Order: sequence, then structure tokens, then C-alpha cells
Amino acid sequence: MPELPEVETIVRDLAHLLPGAKIKGVEVVRPDLIEDDTPEGFARKIRGKKIRSVVRRAKNIVMDLGGERLLVNLGMTGRLLVARAGDDEPTHLGVRIGLDRGRELRYHDVRRFGRLWTVTEAQWQAWDGQLGVEPLSDAFSADWLVQAAGRSKVAIKVWLMDQARVVGVGNIYASEALFRARVDPRRPANSLTPDELARVRDGVQAVLREAIDHRGTTFLDYRDARGEEGAFAARLKVYDREGQPCPGCKGHVERIVQGGRSTFFCPSCQH
Ligand SMILES: [Zn+2]
Repeated sequence: MPELPEVETIVRDLAHLLPGAKIKGVEVVRPDLIEDDTPEGFARKIRGKKIRSVVRRAKNIVMDLGGERLLVNLGMTGRLLVARAGDDEPTHLGVRIGLDRGRELRYHDVRRFGRLWTVTEAQWQAWDGQLGVEPLSDAFSADWLVQAAGRSKVAIKVWLMDQARVVGVGNIYASEALFRARVDPRRPANSLTPDELARVRDGVQAVLREAIDHRGTTFLDYRDARGEEGAFAARLKVYDREGQPCPGCKGHVERIVQGGRSTFFCPSCQH
């Protein structure tokens, strides 16, 4: 499932490719991918609009169409690609958005947990205000963590993955961040000292930035806006490495289950 670095990689590509492009045509192949609208209603709202900018908020791709925003959430297996009209069709094409200068924006999704939808500026402002803190922003400070985590008995790894608190940190990067912070993922959030929470903040930011530099983590499905895989999987230190040597000591990486998800960690390095 794409997390923050994967969506950020796609957004940075699209931010180079799309601003100024005009939406000429819309073809909805899979109507269930369009949230809160009919395919015709969705097409009517975006056709003829110019894409002004592309940004990321949480794990959503947000295109400013001037008065309206087009949002894309990739779900588990969604891909958003810029292609030339007439290029080979991807399998599982869900939505095709025709652009000027012979280009197309194609959304395809094998499992179809992704979605596309539009919001007005007022809806956008309200929704944006409800989402959790961006982990690469200044708001995600050690002080904020002390305040917010200090009130919770939830295990720190589960706490970090709660999108109502911090956005975009999923299972892979939560495990990796806590390894870098040398903090045991099972500890209640409110048991961490301010120094440990500062290390958690640093670990989260370091692993996200490094993953963005390597264009994200591909296990199976994730591709960037050009259809290429990310290169960060080879640099993961604990995630999906159960039984393998810990990169920090002579011990081995262990796997446990927290909140129904696998957590990977080193019991010797993380306390
Ligand atoms: Zn270790």
C-alpha cells in the first residue's frame, strides 16, 4: 500500500508534468472508482478545467482546478500515470483523463480500493482541517509529540499509524522509524520520555525523506507517475526482514502482530 513517500514521489512527478494542462475529455471505465458522483457528473465538473497545481495532503493527490479540486487516493494498488494518447493501454484501466498536447492521465487499479473525487474550495478547507499532522512539516515537532502522545496508552507504533493524529505513516515506515529511534514499538506512547519522542520524530522524518530520495518502496504494485518502481525496498532495515541479521547488532529481526499488522523490530536495539 502506498504510504507518504510513494504518494509524494508521484506528486513531485505530476507537479512537473501537469500544471497548465487542460482537461479535454474524461472516460470513466470503472464507475465504482468515482466517489460521491456519477461518471457523468464527475466528468462535467472537471472537463474544460486547467490543472493549476498538484500537491499532496496525507496520502491523497490533490489537483487544483481553480475553484474545484480533483483528489485521487491510490488505495492499495492504484497507479496514476501520464502517457501519450495511443500508448499501450494498461490493464485494469479505471479512468482516463484526456489532456491537451496529446497526453493522458490514466488511473488504473487492480483491486479497486482507490478513488477519485472532486471537492469545492470550502469542502477542501474543512476536510484539510480535520486531517492529522503532516510528519514532514514543522507542526510535527518534539513538543507536539510530547503533548499528543503523552495522553495515550496506545502502543507507540500503533499510535504513529493513526491517520487522525499523523498522516501518511503506514506499516512500513512506522517499523523503520522506530528502529532508527531505538524505541520498542510495543511501549505505550505515554511511557516515552521527551528525549525518546524527539528520537521518534527524527526517525520518522529521516526515513520518510530517505524513502522519497529513493522514489519510494515497491514490493509489488507501487509505480511512480512514469511507471517506474521505487528503489527504497533494498534499504529497509527491519521491515519484512524477520529472522535476518539486525543491521545494528548481532541479533535478529523479530516479527510481532500489533493491531492486526506485522511489526518488525530488533529486541536488542530497541528498548
Ligand atoms: Zn539489533
